[in-house]
Amino acid sequence: MLRVAVVGSGPSGVYTAEALTRQTSVPDVTVDVLDRLPCPYGLVRYGVAPDHEKIKSLQGSLRKVLEDPRVRFLGNVAVGPPPLTPRRLLGLYHAVVYCVGAAADRRLGVPGEELPGSFSATRFVSWYSAHPDEPPDGFALGARAAVVIGVGNVAVDVARVLARSAADLSGTDVPRAALRALADSRVTDIHMVGRRGPSQAKFTTKELRELGALSGTDVLVDEDELALDPGYADPSGLPSAARRNVEVLRAWAARPPAGHARRLHLRFFLRPLELAADGAGRVRAVRFARTGPDGRGGVTDTGGVEEIPAGLVLRSVGYQGVALPGLPFDARGTVVPNAGGRVLRDGRPSPGEYVAGWIKRGPTGVIGTNRPCAKETAAALIADAPALLTRALPADRLTGALLDPLTVLRAAGLRPVPWQGWLAIETAEAAWGRSLGRGTVKLPQWDELLTAAGAAPPPPDRAG
Ligand code: NAP
Repeated sequence: MLRVAVVGSGPSGVYTAEALTRQTSVPDVTVDVLDRLPCPYGLVRYGVAPDHEKIKSLQGSLRKVLEDPRVRFLGNVAVGPPPLTPRRLLGLYHAVVYCVGAAADRRLGVPGEELPGSFSATRFVSWYSAHPDEPPDGFALGARAAVVIGVGNVAVDVARVLARSAADLSGTDVPRAALRALADSRVTDIHMVGRRGPSQAKFTTKELRELGALSGTDVLVDEDELALDPGYADPSGLPSAARRNVEVLRAWAARPPAGHARRLHLRFFLRPLELAADGAGRVRAVRFARTGPDGRGGVTDTGGVEEIPAGLVLRSVGYQGVALPGLPFDARGTVVPNAGGRVLRDGRPSPGEYVAGWIKRGPTGVIGTNRPCAKETAAALIADAPALLTRALPADRLTGALLDPLTVLRAAGLRPVPWQGWLAIETAEAAWGRSLGRGTVKLPQWDELLTAAGAAPPPPDRAG
């Protein structure tokens, strides 16, 4: 039997488990899917915006994989620091696949980035997604104006959530404290700012269009600013996605504002220079250099400076991978060095170690991009299986039966949350929502999650 551990239960981890159980060359496979959190699904649970219910419903197909009898979910298991180092983990399985994503935000590298009132968008997303590492009351939305730096899909998500009314979101699983803060929000103006032109924005058209459909918010664009982009004047040479974006923006430029109480300003050709502080040391504005096209797809400063006042700044300039203690790391690409999913140590494949998802290829692509990526890694692992199976795994001294890794994890002091524990969390979240007169409402704190999970009986060890 081939024993595999997958570290991370987001889409890339679950798709890896799916690919391993679907292949037929090595029929006898078991997969333990480990996660640092007690809950599965990674960014589908803790990244996809609460009002994107259709994308969230992907959880249903991920769930089917985790409920396969050959797959076992074990939450609340941190891999990296002792006691569960990568070396120790590899001692328990024939192979380990790291699908740990890209957990950190990219830095802007400008003065004032860390001023109070300035946050990474990833923290804001974690907050409204009830991630247990983010305090439930981490954001008070007392500022009148907010600046979102970056024009990718995460920027669109955070701008849209800021613009939504609490009534819009009360039907979602957004946690209680976040819903209250959104209900009390004083934000009237949201500025989403790109350093390049509209034809170079990273957002996708479907996501962009949703901004125009927000009730109670005017989306404002300045035709003169858009027209600085040669791709705006003549979109015929643009890739189709960029052309569609430009046409959406053109239609908005021609539309008179409805006079709503909230305004979303889409701005371009502004490169962040600095975040300025008020007398109390909190952010009060973002200073930008005006830019213009350089003719090669980039921009150059044109000499002008613009300051946009804002008491809340969300920096949404992409994610980056984080080094996992005990695994090699390419700090420039912020990925684990690999060849088609095989982890490279000192340039050579490290037997039994693999990666898939963002930590393999960098933080780009939609959820579905992870499926072929995971398949490629699983195929490499299966091709290596004959060699991997020659390595002896820990066995019971008396009976010779293979030890269940779960027994070893427990002996090391870990308290894994099994699938039943996760189901108990789901039940508790449904009950919590009912008590609030809402649908399912997420529990935002570690102790609440672990208490809910603890209501489930511990799973039986899997004999070898
Ligand atoms: P992203 O798509 O890479 O966008 C990052 C944005 O930040 C770009 O506009 C980029 O501008 C800008 N930026 C980078 N460095 C900057 C700097 N120093 N100063 C100013 N601006 C800077 O990243 P993301 O929005 O975090 O999204 C990550 C991935 O998740 C993407 O593949 C995205 O499509 C996906 N995602 C999808 C959805 C969805 O499908 N609904 C939702 C969320 C995320 P430049 O282009 O000039 O570098």
